[in-house]
Amino acid sequence: CADAAMHEAKNLGRNSYHFFSPALDQQSRSRFQLTTMLQGALEKDEFRLFYQPKVCLKTGRVKGVEALLRWFSAELGEVSPSDFIPLAEDMGLIDQIGDWVMLMAVKQGAAWQQQGLAVNVGVNVSARQFQRGNVAGRVISLLNRYNLSPDHFSIELTETSFMHSADKTRSAISELLKLGVGVAIDDFGTGYSSLNYVRTMALSQLKIDLSFIQNIENSEKDRRLVEAMIAMAHAMDFEVIAEGVETREQLVLLKRMGCDQAQGFFLSRPQPEESLTPWLKANTLSLK
Ligand code: C2E
Ligand code: MG
Ligand code: MG
Ligand code: MG
Repeated sequence: CADAAMHEAKNLGRNSYHFFSPALDQQSRSRFQLTTMLQGALEKDEFRLFYQPKVCLKTGRVKGVEALLRWFSAELGEVSPSDFIPLAEDMGLIDQIGDWVMLMAVKQGAAWQQQGLAVNVGVNVSARQFQRGNVAGRVISLLNRYNLSPDHFSIELTETSFMHSADKTRSAISELLKLGVGVAIDDFGTGYSSLNYVRTMALSQLKIDLSFIQNIENSEKDRRLVEAMIAMAHAMDFEVIAEGVETREQLVLLKRMGCDQAQGFFLSRPQPEESLTPWLKANTLSLK
């Protein structure tokens, strides 16, 4: 009897496998796998923050760093944030992950501040995090807890944040700006109505998306467009950062155009704190 039941269960299992299998295409299976693993990643301590310098084009000094999340999964190896951040947003895991990112970034900023390094640490904040609300409250309590000066911290957000929760996003931004925390609009130029946000928002920085920078050596049109973006940002009193600078030529052009800061592989890849700190201590870079 027990044998028969076992046999039946096996058959059932096999049947259900056959039944469900065609529906689970490769993509949704790996998405499911990724989700399961993502759920365990915080507990298993598989996340790390890397930091990429933002360099002042006038002085060659590092003005700040952007914290970029890295996931080193035991099962999957390194997974790109472009793959797991959208998933974390969909699965409702971004709040927890985002809180961890903010905590680690504030702690690191405080450690650098204690070493006498004037480095602004920026974190990326997802639209979903604004939707839940209280982004400003979280930032403020962390800055207080770790004694990090507000002008050593900033957040980066994309236009999506205004599309999904405009009111919460706006009030968080103005609260943070009042306190002296930096607020940057990220990936500028890639969204739907960029200019409207520029017109109506108080911000401290505008980051020109790397897609506009990539081809400035070769395209006169791209050069003019970037020049116009810089002029526009300055007219609004925003600092401008060029993202994704990969060559010396790009850097020289951006400097000539009056861009304030640059970030990109040519200057430095995102790095773990251990290798970045000595680099920050040396602090200057020859931009000739
Ligand atoms: P992002 O905020 O626009 O970050 C810039 C991305 O460009 C980073 O990719 C960075 O490694 C990459 N990058 C920097 N310099 C260069 C360059 O010279 N050339 C090229 N081709 N790429 C460059 P990454 O680290 O893969 O992150 C991708 C995106 O994932 C980020 O775009 C951001 O939207 C998101 N992200 C990363 N970390 C976090 C996080 O902690 N929280 C949230 N919510 N999103 C994050
Ligand atoms: Mg960013
Ligand atoms: Mg960006
Ligand atoms: Mg981006």
